[in-house]
Amino acid sequence: MGTSLQFLGAARTVTGSKHVLSHRGKVVMMDCGMFQGLKQWRSLNWEPFPLVMGYVDTIVLSHAHIDHSGYLPRLFRYGYDGPVFATPSTYDLCQIMLPDSAHIHEEDARYANKQGYSKHSPALPLYTQEDAAGSLELFQTVPYGRSHEINRNIQFEFQDAGHILGSALTRFTLTREDDSRISLVYSGDIGRYSEHILRDPQAMDEADFLILETTYGDRLHNSGDTESLLADVINETAARGGVVLIPSFAVGRTQEVLYHIRELQEMQRIPPIPVYMDSPLAIKATRIFCDHLENYPARVYDPQEGDGCPVLCYNLHIASQVSESKAINTITDPAIIISASGMCEAGRVLHHLKLRLPDPNNSVVFVGYQAEGTRGRRILEGEKQIKIHGDYYPVGARVEYIDTFSAHGDYEEIFRWLGHFRRPPRMTFLVHGEEASMQAMADKISQRLQWPVHMPSYLEKIDLEQYLPSLQ
Ligand SMILES: [Zn+2]
Repeated sequence: MGTSLQFLGAARTVTGSKHVLSHRGKVVMMDCGMFQGLKQWRSLNWEPFPLVMGYVDTIVLSHAHIDHSGYLPRLFRYGYDGPVFATPSTYDLCQIMLPDSAHIHEEDARYANKQGYSKHSPALPLYTQEDAAGSLELFQTVPYGRSHEINRNIQFEFQDAGHILGSALTRFTLTREDDSRISLVYSGDIGRYSEHILRDPQAMDEADFLILETTYGDRLHNSGDTESLLADVINETAARGGVVLIPSFAVGRTQEVLYHIRELQEMQRIPPIPVYMDSPLAIKATRIFCDHLENYPARVYDPQEGDGCPVLCYNLHIASQVSESKAINTITDPAIIISASGMCEAGRVLHHLKLRLPDPNNSVVFVGYQAEGTRGRRILEGEKQIKIHGDYYPVGARVEYIDTFSAHGDYEEIFRWLGHFRRPPRMTFLVHGEEASMQAMADKISQRLQWPVHMPSYLEKIDLEQYLPSLQ
């Protein structure tokens, strides 16, 4: 009946975040993420949930990214019916992201059945739209800074993690049998300092136990001037009479890009050309960003001034309907088109690439990491022809990569956040990093702070009592 942790994901990898806290008989899971990326990890989504169904009775979400929330509909499908606590913005984003994820799984299953390549007949989706809708009914929102009692022995509070809209650092306060209290902080994903449309990660000053992400445990970000890079490519392309095509992740990155374009427009650093947003998910996400003006940093949105949502740039055209999306194909004057998916693997961006890629007057500007094996990576690496929907298209357009965007703090930013701790945690558990990155972070924490660290492996269970004074 003591206190323990078990790691069911993001253990020596970056996806599938699921960390189980068991305290005096109550079992709370931090995040419910889907595994993504390599097949060896993705196949875990299909395996039976490693704990007895019904064992986990509460879920607390750090943020809406699918590698932190995307397993919820699967768990719902197999009977999870406890509460899912999240910030209001995380709930709103999950309302578009979980159905979108279900749609992708349904399409994959349909495609596998059509092609007949699945080992299973018929191939089934990981989960359906109904599962996504069902899991959304379990949500209960808790705003930043408000303490919430799960039961008499477990309370938690969210603070802004500055990673995406609604992202949270979670501090749990656990009451032990002798009425003493201990704290556990789960970092979720930690954002960056001095971001434009996000606040800085909120300082935390103590924790008995810390679960810390280590995505960039071995890297420092490029500190280039994003707006100058963006202005250069937009100005040069517009001067040639071309179109700037920006493949972008629908949630978060698209809104950052829109914000920077608005800034450039305001300072008249770019010509007043039209901007087209062509991704159904990005359009819905942008509406959510505008519904949560309370989450913007004060320097970006001042409610007294009331000058509108800071991510809505000027001359913005929103292509909600397929017909509006197709109409963008007729544009021959300079314009900016932002479309998903960010790695050019699916979505409306493929249609724009087919049309815009061959013309040397155009530019394709990547604003996010392009994973190995993706079409985006092949374009970036300079392939001369790119296959889309079965046909090859020559790459004539100028290809640019603006690598200054990132939603995760680098290791110096993580150390800046750790610098607020007034005493070392009894143990720091490293999660959400590839092995090398995590090891680099472990070494740095040991050397710089002399804190004890542990890198849990998949399914490892750790009794926290061993680090605590024994009960009277
Ligand atoms: Zn994330």
